Amino acid sequence: MKPHRDRVDAKRHIALVAHDNKKVELLEWASYNRDTLAPHHLYATGTTGTMLEYELGLPVQRFLSGPVGGDQQIGAKIAEGVIDMLFFLWDPLEAQPHDPDVKALLRLGAVWNIPMASNVATADFLISSPLFATQYDRVVPDFGQRDWRGVTGQDDSS
Ligand code: PGA
Repeated sequence: MKPHRDRVDAKRHIALVAHDNKKVELLEWASYNRDTLAPHHLYATGTTGTMLEYELGLPVQRFLSGPVGGDQQIGAKIAEGVIDMLFFLWDPLEAQPHDPDVKALLRLGAVWNIPMASNVATADFLISSPLFATQYDRVVPDFGQRDWRGVTGQDDSS
């Protein structure tokens, strides 16, 4: 099977996550872009989501807080094809207790070829792209049939 293109509706499913030292930056960025974000479905890790709802006055589907599973929940929604864009202001200057989850989330974003921003400059480019406001045919890799460990589960000896 080949990769296919998935038509991403103009109404996007956007996840927003910020580590503690980056929350103010994300809130300022989101406030500035409130009207652009408003028509879309917004998702966030627990604390980030609570702050965004308060700041923006928009509904945000909140997952658990990042360190206790929220990053993994968002990663799962990316893998399921629900979340199609990620703004993740992670902190490059401080180790996180959930560093493996942070890496896993970034990894799944790359695996599933969703647009994602890790800093405000990239977030600015992403949200101001002409593609942001239109339907977009994103290439979705097809991993369905491939055996990633090289184990077929079948006896090839006969
Ligand atoms: P938080 O999680 O929004 O619950 O603070 C963010 C994170 O650390 O991934």
